[in-house]
Amino acid sequence: MREFNAVVLGAGGVGKSALVVRFTQDQFLDTYDPTIEEAYSKTWTVDDELVQLDVLDTAGAEQFTAITELYIKAATGFVLVFSLIQEASLKEVSNLRTQIARVKGVSEADVPLVVVGTKSDLVYEREVQPETLKELSYQWTVPFYETSAKKNSHVQEAFDDLVRQMRTQ
Ligand code: GDP
Ligand code: MG
Repeated sequence: MREFNAVVLGAGGVGKSALVVRFTQDQFLDTYDPTIEEAYSKTWTVDDELVQLDVLDTAGAEQFTAITELYIKAATGFVLVFSLIQEASLKEVSNLRTQIARVKGVSEADVPLVVVGTKSDLVYEREVQPETLKELSYQWTVPFYETSAKKNSHVQEAFDDLVRQMRTQ
């Protein structure tokens, strides 16, 4: 069985922990503790191959710190998270993407990475339009997923995609 590791980064409150808990434990985390920082692991089958993914759920990536840099150095794959109901959180994803390429010393296109927009169930509060994401996905050549940890929508797909990218590295 092949093992991979990934880190989940993004602004506070966007839903990183809820995403990881949905993915690894199939539960919805509706309490908010911005300080939780924890390692999770899941074993599942992607295209007939059993894989293990170790996922680090981080806290407080509000600004780029030495810790963020250490996380980036240690990780192979990246899940960059923003909230579909908070346009400003998309800016953080853009910054992180630039920093990852700098720290890894490779072009952005060569880093296994998915961008995850969360809280798609909150349709009436939505601030980020699908066209914006389509345009960014095209510009960055990075896959975007619109997810809901609450409704369990497109969470698994995002992690499947990440593993597929890491397998070809
Ligand atoms: P983090 O700081 O990025 O780890 O954010 P959390 O995962 O702790 O989520 C922050 C808040 O948003 C919590 O109250 C979650 O229950 C809520 N939340 C996270 N994901 C979703 C979602 O998909 N739908 C809804 N409605 N709320 C969510
Ligand atoms: Mg969290």
